[in-house]
Amino acid sequence: MASGNIYLDDLRVKPEVIDPPKDEDLVEVSEDVNDPDQQALKPNLTVASSVHELLECPVCLNAMYPPIHQCSNGHTICSACKPKVHNRCPTCRHELGNIRCLALEKVAATLELPCKFHTFGCSGIFPYFNKLKHESQCAFKPYNCPYAGSECSVVGDIPFLVNHLKDDHKVDMHNGSTFNHRYVKSNPHEVENATWMLTVFSCFGQYFCLHFEAFQLGMAPVYVAFLRFMGDDTEAKNYSYSLEVGANGRKMIFQGVPRSIRDSHRKVRDSYDGLIIQRNMALFFSGGDRKELKLRVTGKIWKEQ
Ligand SMILES: [Zn+2]
Ligand SMILES: [Zn+2]
Ligand SMILES: [Zn+2]
Ligand SMILES: [Zn+2]
Repeated sequence: MASGNIYLDDLRVKPEVIDPPKDEDLVEVSEDVNDPDQQALKPNLTVASSVHELLECPVCLNAMYPPIHQCSNGHTICSACKPKVHNRCPTCRHELGNIRCLALEKVAATLELPCKFHTFGCSGIFPYFNKLKHESQCAFKPYNCPYAGSECSVVGDIPFLVNHLKDDHKVDMHNGSTFNHRYVKSNPHEVENATWMLTVFSCFGQYFCLHFEAFQLGMAPVYVAFLRFMGDDTEAKNYSYSLEVGANGRKMIFQGVPRSIRDSHRKVRDSYDGLIIQRNMALFFSGGDRKELKLRVTGKIWKEQ
């Protein structure tokens, strides 16, 4: 997949860089990740762009939202940065005081802007003050990499992330809706350095992440396995899954609904929304001399209705 799917924070095309687009779809995308705001895909591109420049906070370079503050010389600053500059205007060093810039706030209210995820396919255009709310729940918002156990900051759409998991994290990929996995660990008494594994299943034209890990639940070391859906929560609810672990004539079964990867791995784990196996039980399932963890987890994913 092309690297074009890597998510860039707000994009802006300055009017002097390009001609006003004849076709809205042909707007070039700037690679400047730090440039905070959006180009207006509108005929009054030049006017809108210079208003965007006015709305750019000189400190964080993000678009400013009310309350917008100004110094006595009229330099503006966003409300998030204001507490960080110790009451000194970052532009002229004068005292900032507590002056609102109502004129700029009013101008902002007249703007209509494309959703910042338009490069991911969202065609929505929103009034300035509705844009953030829309973007927080936009269906085209890219997903975070679902790989746990590393601080991976990669984001993208699902096909992009599937390739990323495969190529960059060397994750095991499987086709089919049933699975049979063995987890073996030679020293099961070291729960501290959380052992975790991720396997990706492809079925029903979708992708699912099976997580397995050891962690400390209160004082007790436990193993947990759960499934996450690579997509949004509304779609995740169309699926169910079951996990089964056992040996020696005993077994534990968990049935659940996969959680969207919009919910972080940690959030799902800490809500215990999965198959949880106490270590003593896990060692019992492993048989032998209890020196080695050997769990066989079987599972199944199916579509509801
Ligand atoms: Zn700022
Ligand atoms: Zn100033
Ligand atoms: Zn959107
Ligand atoms: Zn990653």
